[in-house]
Amino acid sequence: MKHHPRCHGIIDSSKKIPLRIALLALLALGATIGGALPARFAAASPAPFSNLTDEKELRSYDLGLDPNLSSVERKSLAEDFNVLSQMDLRPDPSEPFRYIFGGEGTAQIKKYLKRRVHFLLSVKNDPALAKQLADEGAGTAPTHGMTMAANIGPLMWYQVLASGQSQSYSLGGKTLEINSTRIGVIQLGPGYTKVAYAPFPPETIAVNRMGILIHEARHSDCTGGFTAQDLADMSGGRRPQNPACGHAHTKCPPGHIYAGLPACDNHPWGAYAIEAAFHFAVAKNCANCTQLQKQSAHAFYLDAKSRVPQFNDMMNGKMGPPNMSSSGQITFFPPEFDQLTEIFQQ
Ligand SMILES: [Zn+2]
Repeated sequence: MKHHPRCHGIIDSSKKIPLRIALLALLALGATIGGALPARFAAASPAPFSNLTDEKELRSYDLGLDPNLSSVERKSLAEDFNVLSQMDLRPDPSEPFRYIFGGEGTAQIKKYLKRRVHFLLSVKNDPALAKQLADEGAGTAPTHGMTMAANIGPLMWYQVLASGQSQSYSLGGKTLEINSTRIGVIQLGPGYTKVAYAPFPPETIAVNRMGILIHEARHSDCTGGFTAQDLADMSGGRRPQNPACGHAHTKCPPGHIYAGLPACDNHPWGAYAIEAAFHFAVAKNCANCTQLQKQSAHAFYLDAKSRVPQFNDMMNGKMGPPNMSSSGQITFFPPEFDQLTEIFQQ
């Protein structure tokens, strides 16, 4: 599986879903959706999600949108934000949902996203990802995984810290100072619009993609702060002591389906746990979702859950409530600054 080149093996903020998992999900769902639904269920089906390609909801997020976004990327994003706004989520009080998103319903998820996602970049913005996409199109790429999206905001902030000078970032008519991990720059990957579960209708795929955006948004949180020691560790090519600043992933343990790949979390309430909480709410407590949306969300919930070894301890409260705060503070700069700069310039 390809690692994001800008992560230098230190911070891997990419979200990868191996194709075999998507295919497994398809197979699992096939048994349920293969036959025609009984008439009484068909008659009781909720109204379909509508006007999915309208960009009004997408625009309401005040995002800096990459002018190079393809029409397919833009259409996908419009669908994702429209489906989120039209879902009637009623999470159970026993779920961590309200602690994560600050309340109930999709309006809370919108607030969560607006704090953490400010720019959306096309896959074309990243030559390496664009090449991967081309290879996949030509059938020459490995088929065991592809990048769905990556949050490059934390690395941008680390670079600013290394430079010692304030910097801003501009895209699509929006400009923000890079003063924390919450600069919120999400790079779409080739998997975002080219997914193995494409036979599903747009309102179903949009839920899955929204789970990816919610996952990436969590990488915008520097929970617990970034210490001088963390910077020193990074300058030495080591992982920061606090993985919750940027919520870096860790390698999955032996025996795991993703063993050895940086596709698991070993700290509480990381990106996979937040993603799982969203999919769980859709699967169990969405009042107007289709059965297919719920079943697909359940498959993604199980996948995300499997990447968090302490998931059950989180859910039963042993690891405390989710800390959704973020800090842009650092106490002082370590003496190895020149070395750190060299690492980032490689
Ligand atoms: Zn991630």
